[in-house]
Amino acid sequence: MFGLIGHLTSLEHAQRVAQRLGYSEYSDQGLDFWCAAPPQLVDDITVTSATGQTIYGKYVESCFLPEMLSQRRIKAAIRKILNAMAAAQKNGIQITALGGFSSIVFENFSLKNQQRVRDVELDYSRFTTGNTHTAYIICRQVEQAAPKLGIDLSQATVAVCGATGDIGSAVCRWLDRQTDVQDLLLIARNQERLQNLQAELGRGKILGLEEALPQADIVVWVASMPRGVDISQIPLRNPCLLIDGGYPKNLDAKMQQPGVCVLKGGIVEHALDIDWQIMELVNMDVPGRQLFACFAEAMLLEFEQLWTNFSWGRNQITVEKMEQIGTASCKHGFQPLLSF
Ligand code: NDP
Repeated sequence: MFGLIGHLTSLEHAQRVAQRLGYSEYSDQGLDFWCAAPPQLVDDITVTSATGQTIYGKYVESCFLPEMLSQRRIKAAIRKILNAMAAAQKNGIQITALGGFSSIVFENFSLKNQQRVRDVELDYSRFTTGNTHTAYIICRQVEQAAPKLGIDLSQATVAVCGATGDIGSAVCRWLDRQTDVQDLLLIARNQERLQNLQAELGRGKILGLEEALPQADIVVWVASMPRGVDISQIPLRNPCLLIDGGYPKNLDAKMQQPGVCVLKGGIVEHALDIDWQIMELVNMDVPGRQLFACFAEAMLLEFEQLWTNFSWGRNQITVEKMEQIGTASCKHGFQPLLSF
């Protein structure tokens, strides 16, 4: 059995979902309530592969919210992730994806040193960040969506916002090795990590957001930001492809500039309907078939009986592992989302 640990994008989102699920008594509760709430196993999932194989899984709502990343709530954020992992393991789930901020909290607060959660000794080989598949899907979205906008990759400048992150660095490695993009612009805050990435790649220009965006034909957003940014005042190229892979979304406002197309990044479409409810709650356009690529990674590992932490740690994703998970992704009927 596979598991998916997820969370909602904001307190307001959580309140709306509670109302929609019929828990009206929770819909006006504030952050303190969500800080105290234990993880919930809220959905049973059945997925059939394009090969005909069927697998079963569970969705674990961690009750983490990005607002908990404030200094005062950080202990609650950590508790949410560890409790959700313990709940998944206790329920006998063999491979569980840590969706959205779950793996970011796990890494940023070195939770690997906190292996015991009450009576559960966490076995990290049962968890995957899902970031290898996410990075693979974003790269395929770049390769397949760019020509639709008339962007020739061999002439294109690609800016990666969050370049030094786990997904961002993998995207840079792939774009460097597997495509012939002309220029890579590397955006993040920590200069030392940017310089290390630039040295590893042997290319790429380190630039700030405001300087990089007007030069980019394609912008890949994979920054770990609790709230989206408004870039509507920055002039962009025409055409320009913006791939927003953040969860919550990195881009805040709707883009009004001519020739600018926004694609939801790191999202896959399955060839067959998936029996679940959860994707409706995160507002997928086609909730029966569309899902986050990190969740799909747990499904792929279950289909392939590869019960191991395929994606783990930080900045260790190789092009070879992206190809491996990409092959499994195609075999089982997942496609990168390409509709704008
Ligand atoms: P990491 O924490 O590994 O990396 C985050 C990157 O963002 C770093 O380069 C960081 O560098 C940069 N960053 C953070 N804040 C800012 C900022 N304000 N401005 C510019 N850069 C910033 O995160 P992941 O790679 O694991 O995840 C990235 C995003 O992808 C997240 O939003 C996550 O929720 C989402 N995600 C989506 C999935 C999907 O299936 N679609 C799956 C998993 C994750 P620095 O701190 O130096 O600025």
